[in-house]
Amino acid sequence: MKNLRDFTYEELLEEVRELGEKPYRAEQIYGWVYRKCAASIDSMTDVSKALRERLKESYTIEGPNVLEVKTSFDGTKKFLSELSDGSRIESVLIPEGDRLTLCVSSQAGCALGCRFCMTGLSGFTRNLTLSELNGQVFAAKGLLGEGEAITNIVLMGMGEPLNNYDNVLRFVSILTDGKGFGFSHNKVTVSTAGLVPGIRRLGAEANINLAVSLNATTDEVRDRIMPINKKYPLDELLDALRGYPHNGKKHVTIEYVMLANVNDSVEDARRLARLLRGIPCKINLIPFNPFPGSRYQAPDNQRVSTFSKVLQDSGYFAIVRASKGADIQAACGQLKGRYEELEAGEEGAG
Ligand code: SAH
Ligand code: SF4
Repeated sequence: MKNLRDFTYEELLEEVRELGEKPYRAEQIYGWVYRKCAASIDSMTDVSKALRERLKESYTIEGPNVLEVKTSFDGTKKFLSELSDGSRIESVLIPEGDRLTLCVSSQAGCALGCRFCMTGLSGFTRNLTLSELNGQVFAAKGLLGEGEAITNIVLMGMGEPLNNYDNVLRFVSILTDGKGFGFSHNKVTVSTAGLVPGIRRLGAEANINLAVSLNATTDEVRDRIMPINKKYPLDELLDALRGYPHNGKKHVTIEYVMLANVNDSVEDARRLARLLRGIPCKINLIPFNPFPGSRYQAPDNQRVSTFSKVLQDSGYFAIVRASKGADIQAACGQLKGRYEELEAGEEGAG
């Protein structure tokens, strides 16, 4: 069985052609799947009964199974989904003023092994398929209250999106397609640990926002906390950022996870200001979110505000990302970890 959520518009056209149907059928089905969020082929009422029956012989509409939803006191909702092979991924819905951002995972696990990241420390399983990527959007829509709508999508959950480049790009095409989910290009952001060839390719092939997890101001520190830096060191990464198209208004987002006594000094802040000179960007400072067994600490508030003040005084737009959903362990990879701990505990007790 094939899943109708596993096709972009062009791919669906091809499927429909192979079935010997008229091209407008593809548009109809695509609209049902993505715009109207059809949960079954039977619900596609303006598709002829005969075609629906034919479709049902080879196609289904399916998404990952949501195992658990946690809601924080600040409104952040985090959900854990199980994929067909038993892998688990998580996604987070974050309300902020009049925005509602969905943070999507791109892989089960991550191969890049950043030392401060729970996902990175637990290893890589596999890339998510298109239906597993867009399944997170469908699942999130199911959690929305009356009158609520997702306004922004960030690929900033588990995994490295640029290591699942093809599926991520297919997903982006559906997200930004008026006949698909219909998000504006500037409401979609891909976050990367700094895969230079992927950044260049994305700049040439998609018209979306880029966020980069910089997290250090010297190769020595970055090599240590983000092993990918040995392959794509800072000067190459910054060069790729300089080349990222910004159409006059788009800014690259620089993410900087602050680790106490590792990358949080005033010298680091000054170096960061120097490194980013000439790159249109805004800077998100993210105090480290600890998890069981993590070896780092978050800097104290004073150090964080000194760091951000140095950047602001150098003319940058820098904000401290308040830790959203701290009470539900909303940092990268944490719900999955907690869930598995709980299951292990239950098995132990039983
Ligand atoms: N692989 C991509 C996107 C997923 S990681 C990337 O690295 O950009 C999403 C963000 O979470 C990254 O900016 C990463 O630096 C940050 N992050 C990971 N673990 C964290 C932790 N324990 N505390 C705070 N931020 C963390
Ligand atoms: Fe992977 Fe991003 Fe975590 Fe690094 S921070 S291990 S790239 S998910």
